[in-house]
Amino acid sequence: MAIATINPATGETVKVFPADDAAAIDRKIGEAEAAFQALKSTTFAQRAEWMRATADLLEAEADGTARILVLEMGKPLPQAKAEVLKCAKNLRFYADHAEGFLTDKPLNDPSSVGASRAYAVYQPLGVVLAVMPWNYALWQVIRFAAPALMAGNTGVLKHASNVPQAALYLDTIFERGGFPVGSFRALMIGSPEVRSVIEDRRIKAVTLTGSEGAGRSVAAIAGEQIKKSVMELGGSDPFIVMPSADLEAAATTAVTARVQNNGQSCIAAKRFLVHADIYDAFAQLFADKMTALVVGDPMDERTDVGPIATESGRSDLAELVDDAVAKGAKVLVGGGAVDGPGWFYRPTLLGELTDDMRIVMEEAFGPVASLYKVADREEAVRIANQTDFGLSSAVWTTDPDEEAAFIRELDAGAVFINGMTVSYPELPFGGIKDSGFGRELAAEGIREFCNVKTVWKA
Ligand code: NAP
Repeated sequence: MAIATINPATGETVKVFPADDAAAIDRKIGEAEAAFQALKSTTFAQRAEWMRATADLLEAEADGTARILVLEMGKPLPQAKAEVLKCAKNLRFYADHAEGFLTDKPLNDPSSVGASRAYAVYQPLGVVLAVMPWNYALWQVIRFAAPALMAGNTGVLKHASNVPQAALYLDTIFERGGFPVGSFRALMIGSPEVRSVIEDRRIKAVTLTGSEGAGRSVAAIAGEQIKKSVMELGGSDPFIVMPSADLEAAATTAVTARVQNNGQSCIAAKRFLVHADIYDAFAQLFADKMTALVVGDPMDERTDVGPIATESGRSDLAELVDDAVAKGAKVLVGGGAVDGPGWFYRPTLLGELTDDMRIVMEEAFGPVASLYKVADREEAVRIANQTDFGLSSAVWTTDPDEEAAFIRELDAGAVFINGMTVSYPELPFGGIKDSGFGRELAAEGIREFCNVKTVWKA
């Protein structure tokens, strides 16, 4: 796949970028390794100062950076600006909290292990490879990079091939903030080159955010090399609505949860499981709100839904919908591509789904919602848990017993009650089952790429 900016709103190839050759890859990993030797002995206070300066740059440059995100993957401009500002917030969060998260952990009673003193220290591992997706081309990278660099690690990035301008922006942002040159380097490579990078002895660990297929491949290589890995993969999150819910608020949130980022978010709600008693009322509200969405130019601030990021992404989505319709699904709203230039797809609501349809088990990466009628909590949980994914989930109920049961029974890395799934620097983020392993964000995220070194003293 060429490394290129192709505007998904028009289909036009804006710029093609040359790939790094073996010498360039070797030089960049060498720079990241040299930066690690410098960074690992700096203080938290020093790194925090550089982190805050990097956040200042992101904020000052937010408008221009947001336009790169829109140009390369088509998200609506206000959402792109919000993404850039959220990145700055994450940098400040780790600048403020990294030292506390990684402070030495003493054993209260060292005599129980025959020591005068026993404790764990958290130390950086070295250069970490980050294989990243295009859908949040800045946020996904920053949420790895901020804790990694605050812990004293350095990073090399293999970004998705369709967001090279975002990759090049990230290549310089940390050193412009004051970090040692080479602390974060973007490799301009395709996915076939990832194996040799992981095999490089200077690479100590790998993190991947992307599809299940890419995760299987990269996790297998990391396993062969006995290198730590974190996998943040796909999802088909359930959004459950029970009779006690505020239906108007639930339907408004359901639409946002499905179509934000043009429906291309791992934590987008994709399957809507609605109790039979309120199904008709909720379906009507949901359908009306999906119909009212404005699809169009993502640079236009009035647009709700822009294009699918790639031509193949749109045809994959269309295949899932066409398969469901051919097997008897009912199209309640939308149901096809928009004619004309660019890779637009109509916001779509499908009902009357059956288990033989691919969309029941696979991830729909675009503005397509699947609506299910469920008889009771047990059926909601059964359908919610029937996919191989387990990223997040949302439940709308005001019944405390029902709330507790859903929290206990849903197979997911998170449950959001009377809201939609959102990632916050303060909360751990990650999935189970085929949605991956390991956690990003919060204290858990910064500890993933640390050596927990035990110290025992007689
Ligand atoms: P993708 O096709 O898997 O690509 C992700 C990254 O992996 C890209 O840099 C890609 O490079 C690379 N890649 C793909 N196949 C590879 C392989 N066999 N070996 C090594 N590298 C490989 O995913 P995407 O289409 O960019 O992103 C969408 C997916 O990411 C969805 O499934 C979504 O749910 C998931 N996602 C998960 C999270 C989370 O936190 N759990 C967050 C965001 C997105 P190329 O571009 O060069 O192919």
